[in-house]
Amino acid sequence: MSATPEPFDALVTHAHETRVLVVGAGIAGLVAALECAKVGMPVTVLEAAGRPGGTIAEAEVGGLRVDVGASCWSTADGDVDALVAELDLAPRAVSPSASATWIAGLGRSGAAAAPVPADSVLGIPANPWAQDVRPFIGLSGAWRAYLDRLRPPLTIGKERNLDRLVRTRMGDAVVDRMVAPLSVGRFGLAPSHVDVAAAAPGLSSALTRTGSLGGAVADLLVDRATGPGIKSLEGGMPRLVDALVDRLVTLGAELVVDARVSGVERGADGRWSVTAESAGGEQVVVAPADVLFVATGQQDAARLLAAHVGASLDDSMTDAARLREIVTLVVDAPDLDSAPRGAEVYAVPGTRRASGLVHQTARWDWLSRAAGPGRHVLSVAFDGSIDDPPHAGLDEAEVAALARDEASALLGVQLEAAAVRGVHRARFTLAPPASAIGHDDATGSVRTAIAGTRGLAAVGSWFAGSGLSRVVADAQSEAERLRRTVLWESPPAA
Ligand SMILES: Cc1cc2nc3c(=O)[nH]c(=O)nc-3n(C[C@H](O)[C@H](O)[C@H](O)COP(=O)(O)OP(=O)(O)OC[C@H]3O[C@@H](n4cnc5c(N)ncnc54)[C@H](O)[C@@H]3O)c2cc1C
Repeated sequence: MSATPEPFDALVTHAHETRVLVVGAGIAGLVAALECAKVGMPVTVLEAAGRPGGTIAEAEVGGLRVDVGASCWSTADGDVDALVAELDLAPRAVSPSASATWIAGLGRSGAAAAPVPADSVLGIPANPWAQDVRPFIGLSGAWRAYLDRLRPPLTIGKERNLDRLVRTRMGDAVVDRMVAPLSVGRFGLAPSHVDVAAAAPGLSSALTRTGSLGGAVADLLVDRATGPGIKSLEGGMPRLVDALVDRLVTLGAELVVDARVSGVERGADGRWSVTAESAGGEQVVVAPADVLFVATGQQDAARLLAAHVGASLDDSMTDAARLREIVTLVVDAPDLDSAPRGAEVYAVPGTRRASGLVHQTARWDWLSRAAGPGRHVLSVAFDGSIDDPPHAGLDEAEVAALARDEASALLGVQLEAAAVRGVHRARFTLAPPASAIGHDDATGSVRTAIAGTRGLAAVGSWFAGSGLSRVVADAQSEAERLRRTVLWESPPAA
């Protein structure tokens, strides 16, 4: 028997002695915490709100438990699917029963609506003459869009601004009535702020190859014939949060809710300590840690990191953050049983006060079964900014009436006040997606500065780009980076 510990044993001991603090228990913070707890690091997660999950949230509305924030994930990269499997939730993963996306606010009166053409990418049609494109741009729009086929491709092949690219090649109607409703409705982002290379990888090179934007779209669609989609969990996305918290507790991690972190300090020994307060204003005491993850939204992150990261957080990131209010309506409306406008409807910007709506009971069978025939769950989205919040000056009853009116118009079905069984309002910050123009530039210098600060990481949608898939992948890779530097590249003293 050897008296000298094996290197592996020393590493395990080192992991057990390396304390981790995570500020923020949204999906980013919980995933980073899990990655550290898995290798035996003692982890404490501090959350300002009274519950974990952040933008993954639920409420009881009209007797149903429903998602009132994020309600699905993109399966494109497989990161959330892998996490779901790791947490033994795969049997609860569900695919949508209806997936069509519609755009409303068409026609002279703005009352018409049509499904997004099958052969399109980001709303850009492969063939402007196709029957299903006609309701959006009419004959004159089709003629204009057809000029795309006649223009020289190479000069514009490198255009990264989605608005300029589509407007130049296919004209205003395609941008305003097909592309903008999707980018604004989904991400709160005008096409002029979308980077084509990030939003539709391969489109620019396909444009150069095929000679036209329509040809490039058709080219991309060949590969996407059996493309990715979205999934959710039976019972709602908060089941993912429950499973993450359960796993963390099993691994010995501690989650403290109602603990808002107001300051971060680094001691002379390089360890991190935080100042946190409970909802009642009492001081929450937390032992210093070797590793700190800041997993809050952008404003708190900027404040907490300011003294520790040389690079300043670009102001344009704050400006880009939008506020999105989701008004959830539970209504008795048998006319909606046939999902008349698919799973989601977005408005042509400027035609409605709501930016869009998800018909949750059309999309998810489990929810439709729970609601019963004739009863429907609708998530109506309203956008604003910190300076101009959605629904400023309206009381609860006025917001409920507005949401009902908007839902009626978007769905083409009149919903009477007497049909409403429940109303719920929830407001969140909507971080820009990674495909926002300038996102990488705005985050790049901060990322470099953080990577150069021992034991520090920032994770979350403001930094990684919005979307569960993106946030999960980034939190995992940042946790892996810190684990490697703290455990492997700085072995315990002999
Ligand atoms: C309305 C809406 C719907 C969405 N729907 C989808 C969807 O269906 N699918 C999808 O993939 N993406 C969706 N997204 C995007 C996705 O939800 C987010 O990108 C993701 O949930 C962000 O997670 P996060 O952990 O970075 O931030 P958050 O979820 O915001 O979590 C941050 C946490 O930090 C806490 N916190 C903040 N400050 C402090 C502090 N000082 N001290 C302690 N704790 C603090 C907050 O209370 C919060 O719990 C949606 C976004 C919005 C706004």
